[in-house]
Amino acid sequence: MIDLNDEDLVIASHNQGKVREIAELLKPYVSRFYSASDLDLAEPEETGKTFIANALLKARAAAEASGKVALADDSGLSVCALNGDPGIYSARWAGEPRDFNVAMERVHNELGDSADRSAAFMCVLALAWPNGDAQTFEGRIDGEIVWPPRGERGFGYDPIFVAKGMQRTFAEIDPQDKHRISHRANAFQKLEMNLVHLRK
Ligand code: IMP
Repeated sequence: MIDLNDEDLVIASHNQGKVREIAELLKPYVSRFYSASDLDLAEPEETGKTFIANALLKARAAAEASGKVALADDSGLSVCALNGDPGIYSARWAGEPRDFNVAMERVHNELGDSADRSAAFMCVLALAWPNGDAQTFEGRIDGEIVWPPRGERGFGYDPIFVAKGMQRTFAEIDPQDKHRISHRANAFQKLEMNLVHLRK
């Protein structure tokens, strides 16, 4: 079990929305949170070749720079017929400035008339300690790629992803429903199963 009762936790992200959401989820286990922006931490370059490597690299950089326990995540869409692409390059496929219509179009074009439309959203959470120890938790949700994109909710590749057993895309369903079953929810459940509740 992981006991964060006497620890400060750095959420290794500059995205305030993400930081707020993670802090809310982990409130029962951690007494004090900091974001990467609070501590003015630099964003390391994501040079890893896997979700695990990139999540670890971000968590370890934040733990080392802050001297506190740090949590980082890395996520993306893996399409089977594309050998796992866009994968760790999910954000980068959208170019600069980010345009996910471009990224979705590229998935569609590269898939061509492939019969295999299966894909999964992946999320890895990495927890790192200043002494170099680390643990990772992997979440995923399986589904398939549809075309054309459908729905206005969500973000990123949501309009072209339909989870197994569903008919509507992640951009068409209620965000609460997505948050219950998503790759991120799955990874957080695994992390939470290992955390000790706060001693009150
Ligand atoms: P990260 O912030 O480096 O983990 O990059 C994640 C990228 O993966 C995002 O920019 C999206 O393109 C994609 N992605 C991750 N999770 C989702 C999701 O739930 N829906 C749609 N796209 C996602």
